[in-house]
Amino acid sequence: MRVLLAEDDLTLQRGLRQTLCDAGHRTVVVADGEHADTLLRGESFDLVVLDLGLPGLDGIVVLERLRKRRQTTPVLILSARDRTEDRVRGLDTGADDYLCKPFDLAEFEARVRTFMRRGHGASVRIGALEWYWDTRQGLVGGTMLELSKHETTALESLLQAPGKIVPKTVLARRIGDEVSAADNMVEVYIHRLRKKLAQSGVEIRTVRGLGYALRESIEGA
Ligand code: CA
Repeated sequence: MRVLLAEDDLTLQRGLRQTLCDAGHRTVVVADGEHADTLLRGESFDLVVLDLGLPGLDGIVVLERLRKRRQTTPVLILSARDRTEDRVRGLDTGADDYLCKPFDLAEFEARVRTFMRRGHGASVRIGALEWYWDTRQGLVGGTMLELSKHETTALESLLQAPGKIVPKTVLARRIGDEVSAADNMVEVYIHRLRKKLAQSGVEIRTVRGLGYALRESIEGA
């Protein structure tokens, strides 16, 4: 997804940007409400991550203007304003979700994943593999795939960008939120996934020195 991140706290901004990049999103970063408003007028994004307390123009005004222009871009609000009435106002103005500061980057990533699933639809099909984002489960020819938590995380990372190279470091970091994953752990999970996907018509290609890419296997299932 192409994401506009509007956040003026530089430490938080760095963390959010890294999280978005790791999840494979192209991210444009601004620290000012006016700048965000200008970009939203001229460019299209798949998601706006919007801090409310922004210099230049308050986030809520940026959101109001966006909706007045009838732009339907999904908006995730980040704010230290945690009173119920603030949240209600944000959602009434047309935000799709609201995250109160302080929050965990893992929580942020989970919320962004929800938006991505909406964008992707409920499931994705490649070869004989049908993957359901909400339940995080896959079927191959009607049979449920039995995957561990880390295998699931690795497979989802690859399914989010079929055909594209997902760097090994990104996989290590995403699995690393769950365990302390070294690079060779990634190899172990990919090896197990390949075995489990043997009959699925899906292959995980190693791109030497770079990472992995998932695609429909040429010879079929
Ligand atoms: Ca702020």
